[in-house]
Amino acid sequence: MSVLIGNLGFPRIGPKRELKFALENFWSGKTSESTLLEVGRALRKANWARQHALGIAHIPSNDFSFYDHVLDTSVMVGAIPAVYGWKGGEVPLELYFAMARGSETRGLPALEMTKWFDTNYHYMVPELEANQTFRLASTKPIDEYLEAKALGYETRPVLLGPVTYLKLAKSKDKALNPLDWLEGLLPVYAEVLRRLHSHGAQWVQMDEPVLSLELDEASQGALRRAYTALAEEVPGLKLLLTNYFGGYGENLELALSLPVAGVHLDLVRAPGELEPVLLKAPRELTLSLGVIDGRNVWRANLSAILERLEPVVEARGEERVMIAPSCSLLHVPIDLSLETALDPELKSWLAFAVQKLEELSILGRALNQGRAAVKDELAASAAAVAARRSSAKIHDPKVQERLAQVTPEMTRRKSPFPLRREAQQAHLGLPLFPTTTIGSFPQTGEVRKARAAFSRGELSTADYTDFLKSKVKEAVRWQEEIGLDVLVHGEFERNDMVQYFAEQLRGYAFTQHGWVQSYGSRYVRPPILFGDVSRPRPMTLEWASYAQSLTSKPVKGMLTGPVTMLQWSFVRDDLPREQVCRQIALALRDEVADLERAGIRVIQIDEPALREGLPLRRSEWEGYLAWAVECFRLCASGVADETQIHTHMCYSEFNDIIESIADMDADVISIEASRSKMELLEAFVSYRYPNQIGPGIYDIHSPRVPPVAEMVELLEKAQKHLAPDQIWINPDCGLKTRKWEEVKPALINLVEAARQLRRQAELSLNPQESL
Ligand code: GLN
Ligand code: ZN
Repeated sequence: MSVLIGNLGFPRIGPKRELKFALENFWSGKTSESTLLEVGRALRKANWARQHALGIAHIPSNDFSFYDHVLDTSVMVGAIPAVYGWKGGEVPLELYFAMARGSETRGLPALEMTKWFDTNYHYMVPELEANQTFRLASTKPIDEYLEAKALGYETRPVLLGPVTYLKLAKSKDKALNPLDWLEGLLPVYAEVLRRLHSHGAQWVQMDEPVLSLELDEASQGALRRAYTALAEEVPGLKLLLTNYFGGYGENLELALSLPVAGVHLDLVRAPGELEPVLLKAPRELTLSLGVIDGRNVWRANLSAILERLEPVVEARGEERVMIAPSCSLLHVPIDLSLETALDPELKSWLAFAVQKLEELSILGRALNQGRAAVKDELAASAAAVAARRSSAKIHDPKVQERLAQVTPEMTRRKSPFPLRREAQQAHLGLPLFPTTTIGSFPQTGEVRKARAAFSRGELSTADYTDFLKSKVKEAVRWQEEIGLDVLVHGEFERNDMVQYFAEQLRGYAFTQHGWVQSYGSRYVRPPILFGDVSRPRPMTLEWASYAQSLTSKPVKGMLTGPVTMLQWSFVRDDLPREQVCRQIALALRDEVADLERAGIRVIQIDEPALREGLPLRRSEWEGYLAWAVECFRLCASGVADETQIHTHMCYSEFNDIIESIADMDADVISIEASRSKMELLEAFVSYRYPNQIGPGIYDIHSPRVPPVAEMVELLEKAQKHLAPDQIWINPDCGLKTRKWEEVKPALINLVEAARQLRRQAELSLNPQESL
């Protein structure tokens, strides 16, 4: 026997984004279903072959998906909402994609989509009907197990566990708790497990990441019932209970008491859990130790990991220990060797999915054959760790010095909001119900083409700048013409709200192929934040000043906030995240100061990712919110009272974090509110949010142009909750994904809605004027 290596999941998108292109060709009718299916088979085959070659003993199957593994699970158990008109039998691909993306021709909505735990991966939310029943409607896990077997690979099928599945589901009937369906769901799971077992599967991986959350009695009971039932139904099959993105915490005793053959630990997020597990785990339980970080891109310190693993193997015996990545590798890019343009020094510190499996393979050999068998590999790992620790590329004494000098005063505006408000009013002279937009204007084909030509070197810097300036000028003229109050330059020069800044800051690097699935065929390439962050020169000043030179109305400067810059990057793991965030905040603080000095009187600092940074466990929220808010304030508070600071967030759920939102002390916050019809403003009311708010009245996620009357109605609703002089009028979010044909009439209507509101307000102040 020897220590085995297991993998929890491999990226499904293909090293060259093969899946994306196959899907898009299929959706646009360019290729047939059989072509798509063939691409899927080829990707799975390549993934299995690659993992086999790396010596992975427990290779996952059913980790592949054409869209999303939660959607696959809904299809597996036949949880298909009635609107899709499914009559039973196998679920056709067309129906599958209708659930994923909606179908215009058939007038079908897509299922709701939301973030998978604290990752940037989005899953399709299962929707359960009041009389929901379950039956086996897709044999995908079995088919893919057999597919691998036919190719000569014995795999460990992965299933999303029944309790996590139900906890992610929402019930159409709000009175029902999805967990109430457990008993109906379990027979389908039992059937899948039985079939897998009968075809020869030894192990099945049951993903239950809800175990890293704080669970109530009902959920704990559900886990107990589920695994007791499944163990009884399919005796002999070994289940590996997998939890990741955190430790088991107070669910540990429960997890160790379930009748499963193995338990996986995320020792990257919860390194401290190894000791209690070693004390409490039953002797015969196999431990899958997640020692390689599945959520980040850094090369591991292999010797340090071995120090921890060797005594465990010694104590428990080789056959009771497996080593693994902390979670599925779905969340990291695939192959570092494709990166030909990365700085070689930085590259030597990184590991993507393939390299992470190589690391596991080295660890496996060290444990089974002794360290000497891999001494060169261990030496290389140690050298990379040492080089990174001391590299001048990462450590900038100036940044550290500045960080050490941050004082509490730097995170406070000079005066409280009521005083600032007066100063700003005198300075800006805005009308009641001021109008503005969130920053970006349509990124048209013309704009994208020019940027592409510029990056290929076909357009000179001077010509590209002239082109962008002409766009800014058109946008400013047009905003003046329709009567907006606070103008924007339009963000035409930005490829992406994080990348644009990251490219101009020191401490960030970029990949060519480092794609990670965000949802369906949408992938992102997060920047890699590897070192101390500083700003060599102003980043947005030229554009804001140019726009301001064209008009006497205030132009709003536009920045991406420190928390969002952090949240949407792969972040160095050698400093606490809050320290990294403070560095970014200081760099942005300089940009804010430069903008102010150049006469920009309104500055917006976007923080759309603030909420998603919340830790999975509630008990850790407070700590996170404290530093996140502090970083925003550090970035925003260097300005005079007269300078108006805005922030923007693209959502409306503020109930549970409203105090922190108020603590950010932005003079104005713009939020999403049109889809929820202003209902979610409640949070701002019950808490008596003190500053100004722009509840979005134009849903920019839809091509629809909202009529004036509808916007007025939304604003009247908002006025029930907020004082008139607290309200700003703006869309829900930036307009970059819309077309000018939609944006123009919509903003004209928005300005008209503001005018009507002002007239109403005047009438109610001087009622005799209406006579
Ligand atoms: N200022 C950005 C824009 O308008 C904000 C985008 C966002 O919040 N996601 O595009
Ligand atoms: Zn937004």
